[in-house]
Amino acid sequence: MDSLNIGVAGCGIGGLAVATLLAKQGHNVTLFDQFSSPSPVGSGLVIQPVGLDVLRTIGAAEYALNLGAKIATMEGYETPSNRKVLNVRYEKGFGLAIHRASLFDALYQCVQAAECEIRTNATVQSTELQDSGRVITLTSGEVCGPFDLVIDASGANSPLSPLQAEPITYGALWGVVDWPANTALAQNQLQQRYYSANKMIGILPIGTMPKATIFWSIRQNDFAAWRDAPLADWKAEATALWPDIAPFLSQITSHDDLTMARYKHGALWKNIDTRLAFIGDAAHVASPQLGQGANMALLDAAALAETLEKYPLQTALPAYQKARRAHVHLYQLMSWTLTPMYQSESKIMPWLRNWILAPLSNIAPFPWLLSKIGSGNIIPPIQRPTP
Ligand SMILES: Cc1cc2nc3c(=O)[nH]c(=O)nc-3n(C[C@H](O)[C@H](O)[C@H](O)COP(=O)(O)OP(=O)(O)OC[C@H]3O[C@@H](n4cnc5c(N)ncnc54)[C@H](O)[C@@H]3O)c2cc1C
Repeated sequence: MDSLNIGVAGCGIGGLAVATLLAKQGHNVTLFDQFSSPSPVGSGLVIQPVGLDVLRTIGAAEYALNLGAKIATMEGYETPSNRKVLNVRYEKGFGLAIHRASLFDALYQCVQAAECEIRTNATVQSTELQDSGRVITLTSGEVCGPFDLVIDASGANSPLSPLQAEPITYGALWGVVDWPANTALAQNQLQQRYYSANKMIGILPIGTMPKATIFWSIRQNDFAAWRDAPLADWKAEATALWPDIAPFLSQITSHDDLTMARYKHGALWKNIDTRLAFIGDAAHVASPQLGQGANMALLDAAALAETLEKYPLQTALPAYQKARRAHVHLYQLMSWTLTPMYQSESKIMPWLRNWILAPLSNIAPFPWLLSKIGSGNIIPPIQRPTP
């Protein structure tokens, strides 16, 4: 295998993962990020068992496991009936709930150990194919390269990706608080409460000290009105939906303690071009309801590294596309189908959730099936050609 000169746009979850894996294979990897110093933003997310396997390969799992919280079940209750309508139990392994900053630290240590070059204050603007390879142009006007391969890992607002994703009506407000001493909630469960599908509040334990992520479903268009209204009004609404949330909410003292996350849905059918590969949110985005986004980025990184290890560049890129296509598009379909059961104005979708999905989730083989969906391996996440 020849050593390649590789440029990676984006130093997030996918970019750090792919850079580490490729540098370990002996390639010369340069990462470009717009940030001036590594400072990940965001709250908590769940790394599913398939993503954890990738972290193990990278060498980031032990650090991440020390900082995160092991999640055994994901539960959701409908109000006012208090019926359990989401019931997913990991049958093998667990989900690792972790603050985004902790996951970043775990991956960042690996990329540094692998001696990748990291260019900060380097906002990528475009990429162009030249005879000598592919170059990256920064917004400063600097042209970098040529590279044998450019990997776009610059996330949901990538300037390089042709992805035209559809905005989703609902987003969520997210915030991180300390895990209160005066709560009976379990620290190994993701819990949600719903009113129909137009109100949802959730708590995700994320380890370290320990902490929790609060999330509140909100229509993207209602964010300005939420900010203008007194915080106490929102707290009263949320506490009415789920009284146990009070000790968590008491730590929110300003609208600025919560961040609005806006979601989109869509995936590239062709996630490669000449000397160019798209990974992570640059290739596919979805609502976080299935908790798969970071896993998808990790799996893309693993699949691309695996195919580049096995094949020469020209064959490796189509092999990467093939390796990930079925898994990505199946999860896109499931996310598109299931998200309105939890976040929408629909009356039918929450009814289906309550009266079809919930009863089925207790009857074999559905518990197993739901566990597989949540774990990220309902089908093999990386398709390999049969020998
Ligand atoms: C609120 C919320 C909750 C989520 N919960 C989960 C969950 O539970 N489980 C899960 O698996 N996923 C979850 N996700 C999704 C997950 O965070 C993303 O799917 C994942 O971070 C994608 O990784 P990425 O590497 O593609 O992009 P990112 O991690 O977003 O990284 C992109 C990087 O590119 C850089 N960048 C962007 N533009 C440029 C540019 N022009 N030039 C240079 N650098 C640039 C950014 O600074 C950033 O460092 C959640 C997402 C959100 C918003």
